[in-house]
Amino acid sequence: MQPFYIFVSGGVSSGIGKGITTASIAKILQAKGFRVIPVKIDPYLNFDAGTMRPTEHGEVWVTEDGGEIDQDLGHYERFLDLIIPKENNITTGQIYWNVLGRERKGGYLGQTVEAIPHVIDEVYRRLRNIADNTQAEFVIVEIGGTVGEYQNEIYFRAARMMKTKGERVLFVHTVYLPILKHLGEMKTKPAQQSVEVLGKLGIQPDFLMCRGEKPIDEVRKRKLETFCYVPKERIISDHDIEPIYELPLILEEQDLGNKILKQLGLQPRESKLDEWKSLIQKIKNSKEKVRIGIVGKYFDIGSFYLTDSYVTVLEAIKHAAWNNSRIPEIIWIDSKEFEKDEKNLQKLKSVDALIVPGGFGEGGVEGKILAIKYARENNIPFLGLCYGLQLAVVEFARNVCGMKGANSTEVDLMTKYPVVDLLPWQKKILEESNYGATMRLGGQLIEIKKETLAHKIYGKDSVIERFRHRYEINPEYVKTLEENGFVFSGKSAKDEGIMQIGELPKHNYFIGTQAHPEFTSRPLRPNPMFDGLIKATIK
Ligand code: GLN
Repeated sequence: MQPFYIFVSGGVSSGIGKGITTASIAKILQAKGFRVIPVKIDPYLNFDAGTMRPTEHGEVWVTEDGGEIDQDLGHYERFLDLIIPKENNITTGQIYWNVLGRERKGGYLGQTVEAIPHVIDEVYRRLRNIADNTQAEFVIVEIGGTVGEYQNEIYFRAARMMKTKGERVLFVHTVYLPILKHLGEMKTKPAQQSVEVLGKLGIQPDFLMCRGEKPIDEVRKRKLETFCYVPKERIISDHDIEPIYELPLILEEQDLGNKILKQLGLQPRESKLDEWKSLIQKIKNSKEKVRIGIVGKYFDIGSFYLTDSYVTVLEAIKHAAWNNSRIPEIIWIDSKEFEKDEKNLQKLKSVDALIVPGGFGEGGVEGKILAIKYARENNIPFLGLCYGLQLAVVEFARNVCGMKGANSTEVDLMTKYPVVDLLPWQKKILEESNYGATMRLGGQLIEIKKETLAHKIYGKDSVIERFRHRYEINPEYVKTLEENGFVFSGKSAKDEGIMQIGELPKHNYFIGTQAHPEFTSRPLRPNPMFDGLIKATIK
């Protein structure tokens, strides 16, 4: 079947939640029985998100096939419960890379290579390939950034071109309607202007998704209809809600799915969203709180706090908490606070459980180690993610095995006890400063030891989780650590000897993994490590 392409663009402001809107549109079409596949376009020149700082771009999403890409793909996976390959994140860097690669091989046969048509054709080719490879009926493409930016113009032009060439294309434009505080009124003008900018690129939106603090009312819908030439029925309220997973239901209440089908000349269909509805009900009925402390360091930019750096961890906590009828309350703790004054550790008294998430470099490390020590000594349920496991091993080596000054060589190259060290094959990579996409990445098999906490929570002998790291627990110290009571309950199958899960049997719940189990957590299927953490706070 010739696929349908739905382009989701944004106007007025960035960061208005286009990713959730895109995921929700895909979700309702999936619930109608269509094969959907979402794509995210990022207009920056980086080849992928792997080399970007978390405070720059938010968290990096790791795909099963080892991609380091934009976090919106994480929303898509969570909403759709699909495994989405890395090729579904297109960056301008990749587009130009391919165009130049072809040019160097003489692929353009003497032509002048230009933005139009060659760059646009490459975008078209990428999208068509995705449709072919996945046999999707709907390819839902989110164009990053805001319309009118210089950076993303080629993508609007490519979308327009695809329609010209006879592809079946639908345009959904997401706009923001601010409520001005001193007026108390929702304004449509910025939205109108963004539709005009879209018009200059030859695009008339089929649907307007109206983001705002409150639902858009009839008066303002009529205004948008008059000024933007989008019929009122296709102006959809996409207002703030909590939890975000309710959005597909809010959109379906407005019959968005069938309106899309009608616009494309398809027959209406019923949506199967029963399980999803039960989940939302369960969340809304939950009363008891669970307080989870996250000790991290990627929080501050300027005078603002950026929780985007840990968005997947946050979502994984929510899924697990909801599964146990708990409302999660997140306590953000900057590890540097503990370094300034150890008395600040008292803050941990108020948490039910502690998570030390992934990280890089030496910043905030000593604070994290202090927090881990506190959790270990005070029997606070603890989950260490990647760096979190490595630092738990450092803490255990120092304070239980008596290896004073033990460290990861990522932090201290000269440490007497390098209990965490580079993976052997990573040494050469770092010597060559070859940083892009060179970590141990993506889905890897973990073999789980019987009669351990890991085996109890996963309930099986092996599992695939996603990884993103250069360092590992130094195999030379494994014996000493185990003799002192640390249990390595998950090991790699392929790369002989990589310790992938570690735990302390005497503790209520103390477990860490070299993986990032947050990436496989789904609203209806919480990851067992997170689920176990919440359960430990209840027992
Ligand atoms: N910096 C550590 C490593 O590279 C941990 C990485 C992480 O937490 N993702 O191994």
